[in-house]
Amino acid sequence: MNGTRSKNIFDPAAKKPFKLSRSKIEDFLRCPLCFYLDRRLGVAQPPGFPFTLNNAVDRLLKKEFDIHRAGKTTHPLMKHYGIDAVPFQHPDLSKWRENFIGIRYHHAPANFIVTGAIDDVWVNKKGELMIVDYKATSTESPITLDAEYRQGYKRQMEIYQWLFRKNGFTVSDTGYFVYVNALKDKAAFDGKLEFDVQILSYTGSDAWVKKTLSLARKCLMSDTPPKGTPDCDFCNYRAAAQKALGVVSRKKNR
Ligand code: SF4
Repeated sequence: MNGTRSKNIFDPAAKKPFKLSRSKIEDFLRCPLCFYLDRRLGVAQPPGFPFTLNNAVDRLLKKEFDIHRAGKTTHPLMKHYGIDAVPFQHPDLSKWRENFIGIRYHHAPANFIVTGAIDDVWVNKKGELMIVDYKATSTESPITLDAEYRQGYKRQMEIYQWLFRKNGFTVSDTGYFVYVNALKDKAAFDGKLEFDVQILSYTGSDAWVKKTLSLARKCLMSDTPPKGTPDCDFCNYRAAAQKALGVVSRKKNR
């Protein structure tokens, strides 16, 4: 394996729409060079380890909210936070939740099929959909959406809101993060993790999505790679490794 992919690569001459997931749009916003290396040149960053504990939490939360979806009832946690809504029933829900499928929309001006896999969607009395994302963490600090890396969570919700609107749904600007926090202050592990569950509301705006898609297309159409993000750990590592190897080979050739 040489680290270069031959599939899912943008071809500037192609007429066919190019599939772009919401996580790749996030990659573009974080570093256009990394996005270009991945989607235009087929060289992606090495994959991280799978978040198996987070995935287990996701699955269990989905099951729990699905019970209330089937019964058209409000989950006690939603009641506790004063959210007058029920989990939304729709025949496509399982597709919308599936990675690599998700909810999708062909955005013709950029010729991208934009995709995103949601965790959940609720509906209020006015018939407006409210996007819901489950998050798992373990912290003793208060949970807020203020940290820099959580700005990406907000954009994630905003893209989902945009996707649902583009699919013809009425979507509230208000979405929710169901945050489960594994408690570390228990006397013993005793073979189980206990969680505190909170709901954080977030008022989003999808106003940036259209412009970003057009910039992402411009980036992929160009034959000149864009600039990278300064102070990126990966690129600093790559540059330091190249430099160190250069020193070794110069010493050898003396
Ligand atoms: S700066 Fe970081 S994110 Fe950008 S190309 Fe380099 S490794 Fe990728």
